Amino acid sequence: MRTITKTPYKSYAIGELPKGCQMCVRGEKEVIFVTGICPRKPSCYFCPISEHKFGKDVIYANEMPVSELKQIIEEGNLCESKGAGLTGGDPLARLDRTIEVIRLLKKGFGKAFHIHLYTPLELVTPETIKKLEEAGLDEIRFHPILDDDSLWERIAVRTSMAKGIEIPVIPGKINETQKLVDYIKDKVSFLNLNELEISDTNVSQLYEKGFVAKDDVSYAVKGSQEMAFGLLDYCLDTPLNVHYCTVSLKDTVQLPKRIARRAKNVKKQFDIITKENTLIRGAVYVLEPSFGYNDKIRNMPPAEKSKLIEQLEKLKENVIAKQKIRPEMIAVDNVKLRLLTSRGIVQSLKKDLKAKGLYPAVVEDLPTYDEFEIESEEI
Ligand code: SF4
Repeated sequence: MRTITKTPYKSYAIGELPKGCQMCVRGEKEVIFVTGICPRKPSCYFCPISEHKFGKDVIYANEMPVSELKQIIEEGNLCESKGAGLTGGDPLARLDRTIEVIRLLKKGFGKAFHIHLYTPLELVTPETIKKLEEAGLDEIRFHPILDDDSLWERIAVRTSMAKGIEIPVIPGKINETQKLVDYIKDKVSFLNLNELEISDTNVSQLYEKGFVAKDDVSYAVKGSQEMAFGLLDYCLDTPLNVHYCTVSLKDTVQLPKRIARRAKNVKKQFDIITKENTLIRGAVYVLEPSFGYNDKIRNMPPAEKSKLIEQLEKLKENVIAKQKIRPEMIAVDNVKLRLLTSRGIVQSLKKDLKAKGLYPAVVEDLPTYDEFEIESEEI
């Protein structure tokens, strides 16, 4: 008899988790954003893609902007990834690139490196599916529109890849979702239901439609979880493997596990690694790290950036010479335009640094490419 089980990853399932999910919950998947271009018009009101990615033809490997595809392999090595999830936008909007990425990953990490891909149905044809299959894609996840079934027949496309559906659970859309379940139950092997999540990008559209967060500390939308439980019950009468993925799975299971794998490979000698796998270090900024700092450096002209990096390199050499420290105890951070060293060194130099108009601080960063700051204390 089929039953609903609570997984050890804060999610719920009927039957087996798709292979892509089994690896994702262990933090083993590299997330490759192939392009921000998406053919869906109008775009989904719940689309969570950030403004600096959506509609732009940009590539990211986890949090790292990619200018050369070989960086995808480097990031995979840093995270000791065993597989990848290809997303967007719509990876099929840049099919040749997607195929090149799949081939590169299989060549770099071997045949067993598991790759899954998310796509809306707009660009799905038997020919594109065949090309993806031939390139080595293992699993494909379609994201159909609930309110318009005109493209649903594309879900029936024949393929040897594992095939499933992945949709957010939208409160109020129970009938439409059940209609989709009825349609897909003999056409795909799995259904992934995602708790609907509020992001910086979709917040105003979701609020306009009356959706609110379920509580003060969560980005999950109120009512999404309850509806997901109803859908799980409904799916008991189908042959589908179903996985209901909660917002807390992503925030408290998947991301921390991926981060833990990266932390041990990027940790510098001077970093203190916490039990949450964040990095505590001393930092010296040449520009005041006030509100909007990250946007400011992201939009900075390259020539200005290069000048600051040069200034930081000189500063680094001065500190090495004056303090007689080993070169590996200090580094220039080209991404966040700052000097990194130990907490103790920054504290002992703070007077001098401030006198030079610099900004010393003790920071706690995530070990991701963008070194997302958890805490920063000016000293
Ligand atoms: S299909 Fe995906 S990427 Fe495109 S608008 Fe919808 S949620 Fe965003």
